[in-house]
Amino acid sequence: MVVLAVGPHPDDVEIGCFGTLARLSAHERIVIAVMTSGEVRGDTEEREREARECAESIGATIEFLKFRDGSLTQDAESVGRLRALLKQHQASTVFCPYPSDSHQDHVATHGIVIASAAHTQEILLYETPSTFGFRPDVFYDISATLPAKLRALATFRSQSDRPYLDPALVEAQARYFALRLHQPGKAFEAYALFRAVR
Ligand SMILES: [Zn+2]
Repeated sequence: MVVLAVGPHPDDVEIGCFGTLARLSAHERIVIAVMTSGEVRGDTEEREREARECAESIGATIEFLKFRDGSLTQDAESVGRLRALLKQHQASTVFCPYPSDSHQDHVATHGIVIASAAHTQEILLYETPSTFGFRPDVFYDISATLPAKLRALATFRSQSDRPYLDPALVEAQARYFALRLHQPGKAFEAYALFRAVR
């Protein structure tokens, strides 16, 4: 099985689902696709280097699609590029952002994935720091891989002033999901299920 995680910018996949990807990487091939290289908030080479370091830490392949940061659009080109990527890697599970999000690139990424993944068996939607109204129904236990997620987030040195990368905050959220699942002390990442074909 191949798992494809799609992020609008370098760091979104790591915030949204990196603990799960680290867990799945023990048995599955992981591909991370980054739609834009984040030039609005830094140097693209540096940001790509940081994202590549994260991907390599779990043996994942990373693809940079290099669309323009801040003006990513769901159109024939972006949908076609992602469709080709899905076909190339034969991905059966896809992670992408939740659609209700105040960042336009995140909304566009969701639309591009849904429009290109007609044949994908499983699509799970992750939360980003700009998501609203998130209603999770699938939970992955990341107790064993939370340290790997926190190390990955620390890799984004160019974004170290961003409050949502604070490891205490990220860990608290994972612990709080565990509490709500009556498994205090553990850590979880949460998803909204878009589609599952079993
Ligand atoms: Zn983003």
